[in-house]
Amino acid sequence: MNNPTRGGFTSGRAAGLVVAVAERELVGGECAYWGCIPSKAMLRPVIAVADAGRVDGARQAVTGPLDVAGVFTRRDHYTANWDDTGQAERIIACLTMTFTASDRPA
Ligand SMILES: Cc1cc2nc3c(=O)[nH]c(=O)nc-3n(C[C@H](O)[C@H](O)[C@H](O)COP(=O)(O)OP(=O)(O)OC[C@H]3O[C@@H](n4cnc5c(N)ncnc54)[C@H](O)[C@@H]3O)c2cc1C
Repeated sequence: MNNPTRGGFTSGRAAGLVVAVAERELVGGECAYWGCIPSKAMLRPVIAVADAGRVDGARQAVTGPLDVAGVFTRRDHYTANWDDTGQAERIIACLTMTFTASDRPA
C-alpha cells in the first residue's frame, strides 16, 4: 500500500463504505522503502557535491570524495530503517476517524 492510497480509503469511509487494509510487507510500499524516497535520498549528496563543484568558492571547499557510509545513513534515515510503525499508525488513525453525515460526498 502506497501513501496516496490513504486518501482513497478515507474517502471510502466518509462515503459510508466499510474499508479494510491488508499489507504483506511494509505500509508505504515501494516508493517509501525501495523506490522514490531511498533513491532520491542517495542522489541528493551526489547532486550537492556536483553543484558545489560548479561554484567558485564552494568548489575549493569540497576536497574529498563522497562519504559512502554517510550516503547510506541518509538513505536509512529517510526509510526510517525500514520500520513502518509511523505509517501504520497514520493508517489506523484514518481507519478510526469518525465521520458525520455532512462528510459524505453529495
Ligand atoms: C528505484 C525507483 C525509484 C522510483 N522513483 C519514483 C519517483 O521518483 N517518482 C514516482 O512517481 N515513482 C517512482 N518510482 C515508482 C513508484 O515507487 C511506484 O510507481 C509506486 O510505488 C507504485 O505504488 P503502488 O501503490 O501502485 O504499488 P506499491 O508501492 O508496490 O504498493 C503495493 C503494496 O501492496 C503490497 N502487496 C502486494 N501484494 C499483496 C498481497 N497479496 N497482500 C497484501 N499486500 C500485498 C505490497 O507489499 C506493497 O506494499 C520509483 C520506483 C523505483 C523502483
